Amino acid sequence: MNYRHGFHAGNFADVFKHALLARLIVYLTRKETPFRVIDTHAGEGAYDLAAEEAERTLEWRGGIGRLADLSGADSETLALLAPYLDCVGAFGADGRPALYPGSPMIAARLMRPQDRALFCELRPDAFETLRYRFGRDARVKTIHIDGYTGLGAYVPPKERRGLALIDPPFERTDEFEVMFEAFLAAHAKWPTGVYALWHPSKDAQAEKRFLAAFARAGVKRALRLSFAVASGGKGLRRTGLVVVNPPFVFQEEARRILAFLAPRLAQGPGAGFEIEPLTGE
Ligand code: SAM
Repeated sequence: MNYRHGFHAGNFADVFKHALLARLIVYLTRKETPFRVIDTHAGEGAYDLAAEEAERTLEWRGGIGRLADLSGADSETLALLAPYLDCVGAFGADGRPALYPGSPMIAARLMRPQDRALFCELRPDAFETLRYRFGRDARVKTIHIDGYTGLGAYVPPKERRGLALIDPPFERTDEFEVMFEAFLAAHAKWPTGVYALWHPSKDAQAEKRFLAAFARAGVKRALRLSFAVASGGKGLRRTGLVVVNPPFVFQEEARRILAFLAPRLAQGPGAGFEIEPLTGE
């Protein structure tokens, strides 16, 4: 387990994932009844972008740093981004927020008193930070456990409503397969849950097999979102999210958000986004 999210916190892939995650959670708050968020690979919860890791890569500059100045954004897009940007907070003079919120902090900020969250993290040092950050939040349970094991053990949640974010580091070569199997097992036990599965787009064949697996397994409502800051080049340039059981309004909201983010975060030719149903009703 070499992966440390601090090197990548606030980069374009985080902005893409977190802006959409915030919409999914906001949607869950529209009903009074409680919901649960399960974050299988939670990370540290939040990141200091002035810390050595972030300073070393400066990836945040091509991500959240490009949202420091929002002039030119239309009011509808700003309203859709507001829950995410509220979690990010104020930007400093250098274009850096004081603390970049990871998925756990976004969930905790948007949840209400009646909602609950389960954050799984396996790396010991990341888990200690995560536990420290949320130790006093009675709505949150942090567990030092393999995220896939945690997902299998804790679904269906007693609230019956909620969201599972599956956001692994893709260090293992079979991560797509393992992620899909863990999702499928959880989905069999909790078919009404909303699932968001993040992935990098680096290995076209593996990604294609992963995307095809949803239809083959008979998963009924799956939406694929893909986001690129350039085509080709070194490092991560394209990323994706599969959302199973997306809220009714999500596709249109995501289209508006990504149409705004794609030119903002572009690094070269080929920047853009795609949204398409992977499977229908
Ligand atoms: N979801 C976080 C966010 O959006 O802020 C980022 C998660 S990061 C991409 C992946 C995390 O998974 C890392 O913190 C890594 O330590 C952790 N990890 C690696 N293997 C794991 C496993 N088998 N189970 C749970 N966590 C794991």
